[in-house]
Amino acid sequence: MREAIQSVVLTAVRNVSDKITNWIASHTYILPANILALAMTGWSTANIQFSTGWNTSIHWSTKAMMSKIQRFLRKLLDFFYPPTAVCIACGALRVDELHVQLCARCADDLHPRSAPFCPRCGKAGWSMECPECALIKPDALDSRCAAFLYQGTARKLVQALKYESVSAASRSLAEGMMQVLPEEPFDAIVPVPLHRVRQKQRGFNQAELLGGALSALCDIPMCNALSRTRATPSQTQFSKEERAANVQAAFTVGMPVEGLSFLLLDDVLTTSSTANACAEALKAAGAAKVVMIAAAQAGIGEDG
Ligand SMILES: [Zn+2]
Ligand SMILES: [Zn+2]
Repeated sequence: MREAIQSVVLTAVRNVSDKITNWIASHTYILPANILALAMTGWSTANIQFSTGWNTSIHWSTKAMMSKIQRFLRKLLDFFYPPTAVCIACGALRVDELHVQLCARCADDLHPRSAPFCPRCGKAGWSMECPECALIKPDALDSRCAAFLYQGTARKLVQALKYESVSAASRSLAEGMMQVLPEEPFDAIVPVPLHRVRQKQRGFNQAELLGGALSALCDIPMCNALSRTRATPSQTQFSKEERAANVQAAFTVGMPVEGLSFLLLDDVLTTSSTANACAEALKAAGAAKVVMIAAAQAGIGEDG
């Protein structure tokens, strides 16, 4: 049905634009007509996304002239209305490089983590387990890492992603995760799942948005291998022990994972109780390795 409507619209637009361009080909000296054709071409190209050369019938000199006019109008427009963008963390208006998502002040307030850090608690300065972690029994996670400290801009970005569904925030956070991505090979990125009721309320899973952004940068495929079978209360109100009990056996694996290595992804790493419960489920199903990666790490204060 959708294809049929699309085809009717395409044919109609092609007919109209053919008529206009044929007419223009014989009236190339009439400037307003060229502007009209330019508007038609711009509109239809932007909205219908033609893949075929529907406008090949336009006389070459007309096309060249149209492209000159188009460039001139763009410059004129840029002069009176400079291209702007807002910083995705603070909303400040920027007129600088448009490919950068953050203003200079917010970019300075990112607190990137740089290796080495303890693979279990995240404390900086340890390439192996720190002395405190060495005394604690290992859990199901092979190691964990986070791109930023959960403060300043990273905190704003995570919250914008999670509570205001600013999906653009996932790109800056994923770029940070690329900097701490372990060099070893992984078979897939697995986002920590939300319970389906929570996901329906929220409309999206922030870990999945981050996973998609990271996957696009590092070429590791993302798969939703896990699902949350139990709706668990938010972890924020619990102590470390209570957090572990809250998420115990809350996840199941929905695909064959035997012998595979996974990069388990979540937005914030706190006590990693949730990640550990996910890793337990994956390992119980035969996964060979589960490494946790998070956009931000909470509760460890300043690096050092
Ligand atoms: Zn800003
Ligand atoms: Zn440690």
